[in-house]
Amino acid sequence: MAQAQKITPRAKDFSEWYNDVVMQAELADYSPVRGCMVIRPHGYRLWELMQQALDEMFKATGHQNAYFPLFIPMSFLAKEAEHVEGFAKEVALVTHTRLKATGKAGAQAVMPDPESALEEPLVVRPTSETIIYAMFAKWIQSYRDLPLLMNQWCNIVRWEFRTRLFLRTTEFLWQEGHTAHATEAEAEAEARQMLGVYRKFQEDWMAMPVITGRKTDSEKFAGALRTYALEALMQDNKALQAGTSHNLGQNFAKAFNVQYQTAAGGLEYVWNTSWGVSTRMIGGLVMTHSDDNGLVCPPKLAPVQVVIVPIWKSEEEKSQVLGVGGKVKEELARAGVRVELDARDSLKPGAKYFEWEAKGVPLRLEIGPRDVAAGQVMTARRTGGKAPAKVDGLGAVVRKTLDEIQATLFQGAKDRREAHSIRGVTKQQFLEFMKGAGGFAYGGFCGSPECEAEVKQQTGATVRVLPDPEFRSAEAPKTCLWCGKPSVAEAVWAQAY
Ligand SMILES: [Zn+2]
Repeated sequence: MAQAQKITPRAKDFSEWYNDVVMQAELADYSPVRGCMVIRPHGYRLWELMQQALDEMFKATGHQNAYFPLFIPMSFLAKEAEHVEGFAKEVALVTHTRLKATGKAGAQAVMPDPESALEEPLVVRPTSETIIYAMFAKWIQSYRDLPLLMNQWCNIVRWEFRTRLFLRTTEFLWQEGHTAHATEAEAEAEARQMLGVYRKFQEDWMAMPVITGRKTDSEKFAGALRTYALEALMQDNKALQAGTSHNLGQNFAKAFNVQYQTAAGGLEYVWNTSWGVSTRMIGGLVMTHSDDNGLVCPPKLAPVQVVIVPIWKSEEEKSQVLGVGGKVKEELARAGVRVELDARDSLKPGAKYFEWEAKGVPLRLEIGPRDVAAGQVMTARRTGGKAPAKVDGLGAVVRKTLDEIQATLFQGAKDRREAHSIRGVTKQQFLEFMKGAGGFAYGGFCGSPECEAEVKQQTGATVRVLPDPEFRSAEAPKTCLWCGKPSVAEAVWAQAY
C-alpha cells in the first residue's frame, strides 16, 4: 500500500478535500474512460451494504427484483414527449455491431464496419421507464395483475463532461423501482411510501438527515406528474439531491399502451411510479460526515467497523498481543461485528492508525503489552475519544459504542443542518445568505418558473423542495421572497450539487 498523502483541509478547498477523501479511503479512482469512475473494493463493499439494507426494505414493501436490457430502441425514447426532451442531450448511442480492420497502424487499425450499421440505433439506458413499460403492456391484462411492483439494480449512462467521483459520472450504479397501479390514489401512495423508505435508510443507516418534499414543475422528472425528493445539506452548505420518487400518472401508460380490464369490464390505463437512488449516496455520506483526516463512515455501513491494532516491540510481546488480538477478533466476529486484525509487520502502529482513519473505520482497538497484563484494550473512536475496555464482555461494549457513534453522527449532522438553515427570509437576507455561507433558506414562493429562473441566474440557488408539512415553518410565508407576489407554497432554496 502506498504511503498516505496529505488530505487538503475542508476550509482550504472543499472540492479538493472531497477528492482527497475519496481517493485516500480507496473508495474510487478515475478511469481511462473520460467521465467514468472505477469503484474500488472498499467503496464497492460500502455500496453492497447499502444495497443489502435497501433491498430488504424493498422486499418488505412487496417489490420483486427483475432485470431489463441495457439497450433501448431509440424510437422508445420518442414516445413520451417530455421524457425524450429531458434525456436527449445526454444519451449514448450504439450505431454499429462490429469493427473492421483497416490495415492502418495504432488507434486507426479498426473502424466501425459500415455494413454493420443498425437500422435503428440503440440507446444505452439513461433510465428504464420506456423499456419496462413496453413489457408491462404485455404482462398487464386485467385488474388482477395489479399492482405490479418491480425493482432493478443496474448501471445507467448519462453523458457527462464534468466528472466528480460518485456525484457526477457518465456511468453510475443505481436501483430503479417501477410499479403499475389501478388508481391514481394507489400510485400516489406508492410514490410517497418509497420516499419514506429512502428517508428511513438515509437517516437510520447513512446517519444523513434529509428534508422531503415535492419538486417544482421545472425541477421534476421528465415525464412525471409529480416528483418527490430527499435533500441533504453537505458540509459546504450545498444541497445534495439524495433520491427521487415519481408519480408518473398515466403519461407512460398512454405512450406504451399499458391498459387493464377493470372489474366492471371496462378498459383503463394504469398509473405508474418510478423511484431511484444511486451510488451518488456514497458522495453524500462522504460530504456529510468526513473530516480533515479522511472518511468518517457511519458504523451501520462501514465495510470495516472495528480494526484491532496490536502494539509490540519484542517478539515475546508480539506473540502476546497477537494472541489476545486474535481472540478479540473472534469474539467480535461472533457478535456480528465486521472486524479486522492489522497484524502487518511492515507498518508502525501510528501509520496504521492514519490509514484506518482515512478509510473511515469507526472504532479502533489498540492492544499493547500493558493492556494484555490488565486484561483490557484501549478503544479509540474515529469521531474522537479514547477509553479502556475489559476484554471480558467486549462484544457488548463494542456494539453499544458503535450504536452511540451512529447516533452521534446523525445528531451532529442534523444540528449542523439546522445551524445553516434560515426561515422566513426577505429578498435582501436571501441574497446575503446565498452570497455568504449558504445553506437551506425557507421562504415564500409564488410558483412562477420565471421567478425560479431569475433566482437561479442571480444566486445559483434553486428550489430544492416544497417541503412536506413536518419541515414547514410554524407560520406560512405570505409573499414570494423574490417578487413579493402572494406565496402559493413555502419553498426550501439552496445551491446544489
Ligand atoms: Zn415570485
